[in-house]
Amino acid sequence: MAKRYNWQLDREMEFPYDAPPPKRQVGYIFDINKCIACQTCTVACKTAWTSGKGEETMFWNNVETKPWGGYPVGWDVNLLETTEPAKWDANRLTSLTIFETDSNDGMPHGYEPRAEDYAHPNLGEDDVSDMIELGHHFEGVHPTWMFYLARICNHCDHPSCVAACPRGAIYKREEDGIVLVDQERCRGYQECVKACPYKKVFYNVISRASSKCIGCYPLVEQGNVALCVESCIGKIRMHGFLSSREEPREDNPLDYIVRIRKLALPLYPQHGTAGNVYYIPPVHVPDPFLEQMFGPGVAAAKEMYRNLGDDPQLLGALLLFGVSPRIITRYEVQGEEAVGWDVDGQEVARVPFTEPIYVRPHYDAQHDVYRHNTA
Ligand code: SF4
Ligand code: SF4
Ligand code: SF4
Repeated sequence: MAKRYNWQLDREMEFPYDAPPPKRQVGYIFDINKCIACQTCTVACKTAWTSGKGEETMFWNNVETKPWGGYPVGWDVNLLETTEPAKWDANRLTSLTIFETDSNDGMPHGYEPRAEDYAHPNLGEDDVSDMIELGHHFEGVHPTWMFYLARICNHCDHPSCVAACPRGAIYKREEDGIVLVDQERCRGYQECVKACPYKKVFYNVISRASSKCIGCYPLVEQGNVALCVESCIGKIRMHGFLSSREEPREDNPLDYIVRIRKLALPLYPQHGTAGNVYYIPPVHVPDPFLEQMFGPGVAAAKEMYRNLGDDPQLLGALLLFGVSPRIITRYEVQGEEAVGWDVDGQEVARVPFTEPIYVRPHYDAQHDVYRHNTA
């Protein structure tokens, strides 16, 4: 079996599929602290890409409430219960990935959800971590917590869906690392559905083929962000390209946040696929829960996020979330503004650190009227 270096695990691991890495890798950052679970992203993706027959319960983008929610139901706990708990020595994973367990005959370790697990895409919405006692009232700090986790395909560095397909019907694009299912080649064996630890490949019972998030590649090819990113109401998302691990660029906001500062972390890195959706962990959630989900960098990331006010370079990168339909490939902090440029070198965003406040006079002399604020 081929060996590959997995930078998220700080070690080599086995990977049963040999292909050169892409020229550049598409990546996303989701700031969980800002998501309001409005599901605009879910609807944007659904109406654009999965409104056909057999796609009724298929959500390439979904937003679930943690700790209890999940789509398909139990997608993460079902796998975690059959793997050993993640063990880390500093930033190095010492436990086994889904590619390294003995029981799987060279296939990634996984499980296949039941059809009914897809029938409740938002089960557990807004459920908090613990019971609320009768008569309990707000006392300044909430003892219970929950957060919203938006999820799409991770367009992984080492995709287990690609590794598992007996037909070679899934491939990772050389030009941007987007992972796609060839609908002509797919015969619906569903090995990919079983192998993806994030359950982001879906079987269509009508077409009898599997499909998944296409990374909005027609938009990406034009230098534009994905629909789920552009439509995000909370502006929690940034979409761009990661440079190589060896040469991250300080002026690439994705590189800066993910590779250089490590403010945003991969989801369940212990599985070994090295996903490329990175999450800024929610600061109000206890570290142990977040560490099993995002790995050992949680405490440092939360500390960094709390101190953003003293960190203009990092704050500047975060201010560029959701500000342009163009992919920002370069950015700079100029005085009190964050400025972003697209792949053509056009300035596409200029965001002040402090929003200007305009005070409208109560009395409008021109029209001889008084205006009242109603909100
Ligand atoms: S998230 Fe799943 S479907 Fe997407 S590339 Fe990774 S293994 Fe494949
Ligand atoms: S990147 Fe495009 S296809 Fe993928 S979840 Fe977002 S909107 Fe859907
Ligand atoms: S549109 Fe943005 S804020 Fe709304 S649910 Fe999706 S990720 Fe969260």
